[in-house]
Amino acid sequence: MKYVGAHVSIAGGVFNAPLNAQKIGAKAFAIFTKNQRQWNAKPLDKESIEKFKQNLNEVEIEPKHILPHDSYLINLGHPDSLKREKSLNAFIDEVQRCEQLGLDKLNFHPGSHLKLIGEQECLDLIVESMNKTLEITKDVILVIENTAGQGSNLGYKFEHLGYLINNSIDKDRVGVCIDTCHAFTSGYDLRDYEAYTKTWDKFEEIVGFKYLKGMHLNDSKPDLGSRVDRHESIGVGKIGLEAFKYIMNDKRMDDIPLILETIDDTIWEQEIKLLYSLID
Ligand code: MN
Ligand code: MN
Ligand code: ZN
Repeated sequence: MKYVGAHVSIAGGVFNAPLNAQKIGAKAFAIFTKNQRQWNAKPLDKESIEKFKQNLNEVEIEPKHILPHDSYLINLGHPDSLKREKSLNAFIDEVQRCEQLGLDKLNFHPGSHLKLIGEQECLDLIVESMNKTLEITKDVILVIENTAGQGSNLGYKFEHLGYLINNSIDKDRVGVCIDTCHAFTSGYDLRDYEAYTKTWDKFEEIVGFKYLKGMHLNDSKPDLGSRVDRHESIGVGKIGLEAFKYIMNDKRMDDIPLILETIDDTIWEQEIKLLYSLID
């Protein structure tokens, strides 16, 4: 079974997210657990946490179909140790917020070397940050997102994801989220069945489907391999509808959150319907 949703708003409180998901017919959703553009957030209060769990229960969405996303400010591979420490502390706080909400995953971007250090050095710093987090926290799976490889962002190769997983101290608590736009713009084609198969064979070989904990379903404005991150609505971008039909009929993507981050949130309800209509 497929669980499709979108990255919904938490305006007014995190407990509004389940209701926002229900409004668009979502069976899964993503959220920020705090303002994603600020370092500090007040801790979640008991009332908000209870209300969140209550609303979740009411809309009948399971915690495993929720994929929280961390703040855009966090860079676990920051070359500057003080700034990396600041990121790590914010990241640990986000993991703990997920724990409090009863959620079992946190989606994050690996990090950026900012052209100050090499890729390998940066990957090792990211692993170190991930492992420190795994040591201090419990239960939550750290879900690494592949990136478009814009600027100095790492995570644009399956090898990066594989390296981070292979070097983590608790493999039961690491996973990946594949963003279709990022995959495509970083050079992994999905447009016809042959290309789709080849891309996922490579994924299985280098990362492994057992680590696939979620996906972001986005079409792409830029071309294959452009390494530019610009999402487009499903079916009208450079990837096209066919790839999403393959995904919706691929059992390997069953039972994980499939999240829209497409540019026009006013059509999310239609996009969710469209995706479900692609199932044979
Ligand atoms: Mn992301
Ligand atoms: Mn994404
Ligand atoms: Zn993106």
